[in-house]
Amino acid sequence: MSDSLQSLRARLDGVDSRVIEALAERQQLVSEIASLKNDPNLPLHDAQRERELLSRLSALARDHGLDSYFVETIYRKILNHSVRFQAEHQTPARRNGTTRVAYQGVDACYSQIAARSFFAPFSTSTSLHGYRSFAAAIDALVRGDAEVAFLPIENSLTGSINETYDLLRTANLHIVGEEVLRIEHCLLAIDPVPLGMIRRISSHPQALAQCNSFIESLEECRKEIADDTAKAAMEVAESGDLSRGAIASEEAATRYGLQVIKRNVSQQKDNYTRFVAIAREFRQTDHRLPHKTSLLLTTKHEKGALARCLDALARHDVSLTKLESRPSAEQPWQYLFYIDHEGGTHEPQVGQALAEVKEYAEDLRVLGSYPRSGSAVTESFLIPPATGREDVQPKSNGAARPPAAEESAYRLTSRAQRTSDSTIKINGVEIGGDAPFALMAGPCSVESRDQIMACARAVHEAGGKLLRGGCFKPRTSTYDFQGLGFEGLTLLHEAAHAYGLAVVTEVLHPADVDAVARECDMLQIGARNMQNFALLKTVGKARLPVLLKRGLMASIAEWLAAAEYIMAEGNKRVILCERGIRTFETATRNTLDLSSIPVVRERTHLPVIVDPSHAAGRREWVAPLVRAARAVGAHGVMIEIHPEPEKALSDGRQSLDLESFKALSREIAA
Ligand code: PEP
Ligand code: MN
Repeated sequence: MSDSLQSLRARLDGVDSRVIEALAERQQLVSEIASLKNDPNLPLHDAQRERELLSRLSALARDHGLDSYFVETIYRKILNHSVRFQAEHQTPARRNGTTRVAYQGVDACYSQIAARSFFAPFSTSTSLHGYRSFAAAIDALVRGDAEVAFLPIENSLTGSINETYDLLRTANLHIVGEEVLRIEHCLLAIDPVPLGMIRRISSHPQALAQCNSFIESLEECRKEIADDTAKAAMEVAESGDLSRGAIASEEAATRYGLQVIKRNVSQQKDNYTRFVAIAREFRQTDHRLPHKTSLLLTTKHEKGALARCLDALARHDVSLTKLESRPSAEQPWQYLFYIDHEGGTHEPQVGQALAEVKEYAEDLRVLGSYPRSGSAVTESFLIPPATGREDVQPKSNGAARPPAAEESAYRLTSRAQRTSDSTIKINGVEIGGDAPFALMAGPCSVESRDQIMACARAVHEAGGKLLRGGCFKPRTSTYDFQGLGFEGLTLLHEAAHAYGLAVVTEVLHPADVDAVARECDMLQIGARNMQNFALLKTVGKARLPVLLKRGLMASIAEWLAAAEYIMAEGNKRVILCERGIRTFETATRNTLDLSSIPVVRERTHLPVIVDPSHAAGRREWVAPLVRAARAVGAHGVMIEIHPEPEKALSDGRQSLDLESFKALSREIAA
């Protein structure tokens, strides 16, 4: 190497050190400014000053023979960083320790690059951890192994990343920030070989799709799928095969020692991916930064329902930046809408608009209200969980929340998932929320055509719409009557049909679920099966509502976690039923835990009814318990009745005769 080259390089090193020193000095000044701006009423970001600065610097750059666009680009990055830095340095309560961030992929994948950029102002207090899949990253967050999950949510060329949306929907999580990353796909290989030598190109399917035209233009070149772009680069590097290429970032080339054969190989030069930072809890954000809000909306099954919701936003001048529909997993042909709009929930017009949308919507969930990632200045940053303030997040009537570990076992079931009560419609009757107190009745067991017909008629005359009847009985003694099985189900179905009633019946075995579901309108899971997880999963796949009875020895948390098994399989139509638990008391068959009703109503949005018959074990005590159930906020009752209780093949002692039932139903109706 010639002397002059060496000395020029040494001088260059000197210049670079001075650039870093200048940046450090700049940061020092920024932090002094930050302490002056500690007044939350002062803006963090002065757009006017920024524009002046950029134009002054562009002119200066030109005077020095530099490209002004190049200098402006660098300065935008410096300014972004300084806004985030100020925000972070004003944070009242600094995170103690490190924030762990979970992303999907290996080193140098786009998610990691985006996360690094997002967390740049807190680089010393964050650690990034790659996971195998999106679900694994979310799982780490839910388990508490990470404080933030960082996932891609949409790409400007290929659209939404449904998996992220689905994970956001099912887990009770919050979007707390976003980052938009410009994606520059490069073709990487082991050596700088001519393009014609590349025979196999691997990458993530999305990246392959984005570079399809380029790959197709190469002769005899195969596409291969990898978990993520950086993994593809890693595998190519490990293979030592000169004919293999990977589509990935330039960072991946550096990280895995590969050469960039060709830059910018995607169809469109403008290729952006938007990432979101997801946290378990709602985070306080700096309201001086421009915000964005993400919503999950379920519209009512009515004409013009979506239009009314959108109109409410428009009337309050809230502009949409995204509207996307996804099919609901719960009900065929029902749709959920993902909406992003400008403005945060702290802004009055947004608050008013959302209050109106709520009126028209079946359900509205704020997925997050967070500083937006702008094209000029990326103000996204994180502030640790707020103490006290929760903005418009669902409230639990101000009551104490259950422990996090317990609550994470029932995310979909949790009250935090939905602000409004869910209601379930069966045979035209709505159960739950503010719907009228529901009445279900019928015999413990279906015993004969005459018996079930008489009961059906009584239910009908009482104004009830739901007929219960057991055909598969979970009896303590194997020598006791086990139910008439499918024969009983046919009788039950016939009787219900004759009187325009819907059928609720217990199913005992996963293998019977489909067949039982064909002849009833709601599947009952009995107390003894509340934790029969295989059965719960099977009814979770059924397209019928499920009545989930509380286990004899189950805590409320276990009961809700059991409901979650059904919900997690996609069946969101679950009604809970309190039927008494085992205590030291032997005077009653079980102890009716009426206190569970207000607790359950606070912790979940699901409807909850009471079965006073199995709790009391004696017909005399049924009516007072019905009154009590209603008083504590149950959404309805399920009562055992029999035309000749003393002759019943099961639970006669607790069954009301038809006359007493009629009297009780009149009282309920009044
Ligand atoms: C029933 O409803 O007939 C029944 C068996 O109830 P549980 O599962 O609550 O005992
Ligand atoms: Mn019974």
